[in-house]
Amino acid sequence: MKIVFVVGLVLASFSVADSSPGPQPLPLPPPLPTPRDEAYPGTLKLAVDVTDIERRVYKVHEDISVTAAGDLVLTYPRWLPGTHAPEGSIDRFAGLVVKAGSTRLEWVRDTVDVFAFHVPVPAGTKTISVDFTYLSAAHHGVGPQEVGRELLVLDWPAVFVYPAGYFTRQILVDASVHVPEGWRVATALEVASTRGAVTTFKTVPLETLADSPVHAGHYYKRYDIAADKTPVFLDVMADHPDLVEIKPALIELERAVVQQATRLFGSHHYDHYDFLLALSDEVGWNTTLEHHRSAEYGEPVTDFIDWDKTSAWRDVLAHEYVHSWDGKFRRPADLWTPTYNVPMRDSLLWVYEGGTQYWGEVVTTRAGVLTKQQALYSLAMTVAALDKEPGRTWRALQDTTNDEIINPRRPMSWPGWQRFEAYYPEGALIWLDADTLIREKTSGAKSLDDFAKAFFGIDNGSFVPVVYTFADVVTALNNVYANDWATFLRTRLDGHGPGAPLDGLRRGGYRLVFTEQPSEYWTSIEDTRLKGVDHSYSIGVVVDKDDVLSTVAWESPAAKAGAIAGSKILSVDGVAYEAARLKLTIQRAKTSKDPISLVLQNGERVFTVRIDYHGGLRYPHLERIPNQPALLDDILAARKN
Ligand SMILES: [Zn+2]
Repeated sequence: MKIVFVVGLVLASFSVADSSPGPQPLPLPPPLPTPRDEAYPGTLKLAVDVTDIERRVYKVHEDISVTAAGDLVLTYPRWLPGTHAPEGSIDRFAGLVVKAGSTRLEWVRDTVDVFAFHVPVPAGTKTISVDFTYLSAAHHGVGPQEVGRELLVLDWPAVFVYPAGYFTRQILVDASVHVPEGWRVATALEVASTRGAVTTFKTVPLETLADSPVHAGHYYKRYDIAADKTPVFLDVMADHPDLVEIKPALIELERAVVQQATRLFGSHHYDHYDFLLALSDEVGWNTTLEHHRSAEYGEPVTDFIDWDKTSAWRDVLAHEYVHSWDGKFRRPADLWTPTYNVPMRDSLLWVYEGGTQYWGEVVTTRAGVLTKQQALYSLAMTVAALDKEPGRTWRALQDTTNDEIINPRRPMSWPGWQRFEAYYPEGALIWLDADTLIREKTSGAKSLDDFAKAFFGIDNGSFVPVVYTFADVVTALNNVYANDWATFLRTRLDGHGPGAPLDGLRRGGYRLVFTEQPSEYWTSIEDTRLKGVDHSYSIGVVVDKDDVLSTVAWESPAAKAGAIAGSKILSVDGVAYEAARLKLTIQRAKTSKDPISLVLQNGERVFTVRIDYHGGLRYPHLERIPNQPALLDDILAARKN
C-alpha cells in the first residue's frame, strides 16, 4: 500500500505540472519620462532648514512650477556624481507631503523605481509645494556623521526632489539654507542675500547646486590660497575655535598645491574654488568628495595638529582638487548623465580616479606637501599590495571599475581575492608606465605633463563638462608620442599578470624590495589610520586596536593555517596577545622550525592556528636600480613654470 501510494502521488504531481504553463510576467509600468535638453518652465524654489542639529533632521520645502494637469513624476537623486554609483539616500527620505495650494495631493511611489513619485496634478494648478525631511544619520551605526554640535555638512542631492523629463542643467533653482543661530556658511555657491541665519543663493542650474555642497559651522576661518588672479580659498570649519587657526607654513603648502596643479594643467575650470575642510572628530569622515568648483574634506582634527606624524593622508587635498580637471571637467562619456536618475557606467574610472590618483600624488610631492622620500614610501606600499594581489588571477583591472556599484565600500571578508577598486592604485601605475615611456622614448623632451595639458587644459576658464571615450584618450596620447597606445592600455587593463604592471617603476629607476624595517610612512598609517599593526607581507594579517584580525590575506601563511578575519587574537605562543609580542615572535620564528601558534576567538568559537612561517618581518620599500636614470625623481620634482 505504502509503495503504491507514493508512486500515485508522484504521478499525480507530474500530471499537474504538465497541465500548467507556469506563471507569466506582468508587463512593467510605463517608463519614467525621458530627460529632454529643454528649459524647464519656471524656477524651482528650494528652502532647507538645518537648524534641528539635536535630532539631525533637515526640513525641506520646495515650490515647483507645473504646466500640465495629470501625472507629474518627481524623482529623488539616485546616481550620485563622485560616488559613481546608485547611492542616493532614499532610505533617509521621509515625511513627503505634496500640495496644490491647500489641497493635499496623494502621491504614489513608482512600483519599479523607488526613487520616483507620481503626483496627480489637478487642472489649473500652477505650482505645487513639496515638504519632506532628510534624516541624517543619528549614530555611526546608520552611517557617517554629517551633523555635529559645532558644524554640519549639507550635500544638496540629499535634500531635493525634481521633476523627471528634463536635463538637470535645464532646471533653474533658487536655493536657501537656514542654519543654527550664530553659524556661518562656506560653499562655492554665490550668495544673493543673507537675512539672519538664512542664506539665499543666486539662481543656478540644478546641476550646479547639486555640485556645490555647503559646510556650516560655529567656528570658521577662510584662507586665501590663490596662486594667481583666480580666487581659491581654504574654508576651515572645526569643533573648537583654536582648530581653525592653521599654521602659515601649511597654508603656503596648500597654495603650492594650487600652483603646481595649475602649472601641470595650464588652465583651470572654475571662476573661483573652495577647499571645504571640516576638522572634526564628530563629523566629516567619509564625506571627502570632489566637485567642479569646490571639494569637501572630512578629516580628524589630529591630521592638522600632528602634521609631522600624519603623512599618510596628505595627498587627499590635491586628489580632490585635481578632480576639477580630471573627472568634473573632462568626464567619461558613459559616466556623464543628464540627470541623477539615469544609470552611470564606470568603464573609464581608471582615467577619472586612476589618473587623479597619479596626478594627485605627483602634485602633492611637487608642492612639497610630501617629501620625495615619503612619496616613494607610499608608492612602495601601493606596488607591494598590487603585486601580491591574488584576485588578479580571475579579475582584470577593467572589471574592478564596476566596484562602486557592486559594493559601495562595505567591509569585505577577503579583499585581496575579491579585488576592490584597483582602478585607483593600479590605474596610477599605468599612468606612471605611460609617463616614463614617453620620457624615455623622447629623451625627456616630452612627458605625461604634455598629455595632461592637452587633454585637461582645453577651454581654459570653462566649467562646462567635456566628455571623452577610450579612443579620445588614445588619440591624445598619440599626439604627445606616437605609439600603439590602444594595445598598451588594453594589455594592462585586461591582463591577469602575473604581478602588477611594474614597467613604469623600473623605467622610473626603482624596484620593489622588502626589509625588516617599516618606513616612517608605514608606521604613520599604522598609527593614524589602522590604529593597529600590519603584517600583510609576513604572516599575512592586519591586527586592529582591539586585537582583532581586520584582514587575513588570501592564501597567506595565516590563511593557510585557518585564520579568518574578525577573529580576536587571545594569545601568541601561549602568552597573552600584545602587538609587540607578535612582532617579536615573527622575528624569532626566523631561526626556529616551530610554527607560530595563535589562539583565536571568532564568535563563540576558540581555536588554535599554527602558522608555519619563518621569513621574518617584511615591509615594502623602493630601491634604486643602479645605472638606470631616475625618471621618477624627475616626475616628482616641482615645476618651475
Ligand atoms: Zn577621486
